[in-house]
Amino acid sequence: MSILNVSHIQRFSTGDGPGIRTTVFLKGCNLHCPWCHNPENIRADREELFYEKTGKRIPYGTMLAPASAAADVLEDKEFYIRSGGGVTVSGGEPMLQSEGVAELAAILRENGVNVLIDTAGCVPWSSFEAVLPFVSDFYFDVKAGSPAKYRELIGGEMALIENNLRKLVLVGANVTARIPLIPGVNDSETELRQIGAVISSAGVRHADILPFHRLGSAKYEAMGLDYGFKNTLPPSRDEILKAAGILGAYTDVGIE
Ligand code: SF4
Repeated sequence: MSILNVSHIQRFSTGDGPGIRTTVFLKGCNLHCPWCHNPENIRADREELFYEKTGKRIPYGTMLAPASAAADVLEDKEFYIRSGGGVTVSGGEPMLQSEGVAELAAILRENGVNVLIDTAGCVPWSSFEAVLPFVSDFYFDVKAGSPAKYRELIGGEMALIENNLRKLVLVGANVTARIPLIPGVNDSETELRQIGAVISSAGVRHADILPFHRLGSAKYEAMGLDYGFKNTLPPSRDEILKAAGILGAYTDVGIE
């Protein structure tokens, strides 16, 4: 039996899939995106965030059996069913815990609850094979358009990520590409065209743009870390629409 390293569980989450959902955030990630909005989920170790202004301390990291996590999220089953929602497993990188995720998803599926996995995809294909019997919906990040940028900026192996994306589409999974739009990182026309080409050659039919925001800044402070993007402005509406126009030549595009 597996154990899940759960960062936290967020009920009635928005932006993590259709309908009313609960998001199970898992702890631990194998990438290091410098703009990351969820720094509390990167390290696998349990940690406590301390918010100086309010004096609040919030712990992240609990080891939970998949059956316990399932029992917890199933309390809201009625809401998921009525709204066409379900449970999203995110992180961190949830696919690093694919066995536990598969156990959790199997229980949820038995209960008629949809499961969506939100992944950056930099894991062996066998991790996807573990969950595919129980999960058909994936949010799959495409963060850069060239192997060099993937490697140097976030420590990801683009060939592996691209292969996993392609294979997921081939096996018939319902895949939405997610593109974080990060000023100065991947918002040039060249970079966006490269990203568009990756998505369309994998056969993904829909992509969502996730414009950069600074809502994670307070978490960095609470962790005693300096946030390299604290002075970066979010993209303007025009910049977002321009990016959508460029990517629209490759796939159907939405804006989150
Ligand atoms: S893959 Fe996601 S959780 Fe991991 S560092 Fe990047 S943005 Fe953060």
